[in-house]
Amino acid sequence: MRSSEIRSTFLDFFRERDHRVVPSSPLIPPDPTLLLTNAGMNQFKPYFLGETEPPHPRAMSVQKCARTSDIENVGRTTRHSTFFEMLGNFSFGDYFKAEAVAWAWELFTRHYGLDPERIWVTVYLDDSEAEDLWRRVGVPAERIQRLGMEDNYWSMGTPGPCGPSSELHYDRGPAFGREGGPAVDGERYQELWNLVFMQNVRGEGTGKGDYPILGELPAKNIDTGLGLDRLAAVLQDVDTVCETDLLAPTLRLVQELAGRPYPGRDGGEDSMSFRVVTEHARSIAFLIADGVLPARDGRGYVLRRLMRRAARHARRLGVDEPVLAPLTGSVIGNLGGTWPELERQSELIEQVVTAEEEGFERTLRQGTRLLESAISRADTTLSGQTAFELHDTYGFPIDLTLDAARSAGLTVDEDAFAELLENQRRQAHRAGRDRKGDAVARRDLYRRVIAEHGRTDFVGYSATRADTRIV
Ligand code: ATP
Ligand code: MG
Ligand code: MG
Ligand code: MG
Repeated sequence: MRSSEIRSTFLDFFRERDHRVVPSSPLIPPDPTLLLTNAGMNQFKPYFLGETEPPHPRAMSVQKCARTSDIENVGRTTRHSTFFEMLGNFSFGDYFKAEAVAWAWELFTRHYGLDPERIWVTVYLDDSEAEDLWRRVGVPAERIQRLGMEDNYWSMGTPGPCGPSSELHYDRGPAFGREGGPAVDGERYQELWNLVFMQNVRGEGTGKGDYPILGELPAKNIDTGLGLDRLAAVLQDVDTVCETDLLAPTLRLVQELAGRPYPGRDGGEDSMSFRVVTEHARSIAFLIADGVLPARDGRGYVLRRLMRRAARHARRLGVDEPVLAPLTGSVIGNLGGTWPELERQSELIEQVVTAEEEGFERTLRQGTRLLESAISRADTTLSGQTAFELHDTYGFPIDLTLDAARSAGLTVDEDAFAELLENQRRQAHRAGRDRKGDAVARRDLYRRVIAEHGRTDFVGYSATRADTRIV
């Protein structure tokens, strides 16, 4: 099943169940507390908080998501991307658990044709209600696992709505990992779909999971998220998200540029580089299309890290020419029909990636030399000082250094790096304050001049020096 059919099957299924389609919100969220849109529910937050009345109690969407926190996983796991599309169905105080569970099962087994015997389900520790519902649709007890707060309880990270979740996993077989269900191995039993049952209200807490549950929500909600890439990998029977039709044309281009074939999932570091370049090209194109531009911090730095990481991994594959423009071009060619903003912004995307890659190229060579010599001298650990110099002088984001060190079997003194970075930040802050101090000193000086000499009138607009009497 091609990805376009996976999307339309999802939407048709929930349209028949009275859901209204809501367009994806942009990757730059209207919500100021969020760096980038990272889930389908983001744009519905005001409905869940009861701040706004939803126009319809049931919604569905195909949401563009960016998850930079997964950047280190890209290429190392088969299932993580920094950009992906999340399919979701939502209930705002309307239907609840029974429907959400029954529909998820029906869609998976009847419409996507997934093998019911390879589906595993997780539920929250004390959520017997959810377990009963899964049993009722036919999931045997041995394929239902109970997990704790960390995996199967959801909140917004602040006091407010929260609740248990339940996830559908698919067994990709022994080639992917150990037996024993999702509690044992997340690569073999891949999480495809997360169903959140928003039924409680939580209070304040200091860390993950240690907040009190204050009571029940008056109106219970459903929020679900199904990763399109992962489902496509399963339905197209390919090993990783990079080989699905969402990314295959880009992976093909990386192979052409590198002049050799992708070595497959088990190709070690080489295989990882192929996948990093392929996957990041898509995030880069989508971020720029939504208005993110490279910068020293914030969203712009996320984009810059992705571009530099992709460029460095392309160099590792032996590609010497610029890659970001042709690669983002292939993303636009492949996904521009579904996401027209890619087409609309294609010129901007090309300009931004070309300029960034040229700029990076200059320092990349020197930085790589420094990095390689530091790696060859190190026993077990790269110093924080080296990581900092690479960051500060050569523009190597820390994850590039971490990648390279990890590939060479080394660790990086990340604490020392963080301390150096913090020192620098503090100094910059102080310099900023000094500049402010200078301004105050100047103002005081002007005040003294006025006090001594009185105010003067500026006549330069109407008179020249020849007209004025110099005293
Ligand atoms: P995982 O445990 O595999 O990291 P998650 O629990 O962090 O996934 P959720 O926050 O529950 O993921 O998001 C809902 C769904 O979105 C997941 O079930 C998965 O299908 C998809 N998804 C999450 N993170 C990614 C990612 N980095 N790349 C691709 N798809 C993802
Ligand atoms: Mg995750
Ligand atoms: Mg998970
Ligand atoms: Mg999850």
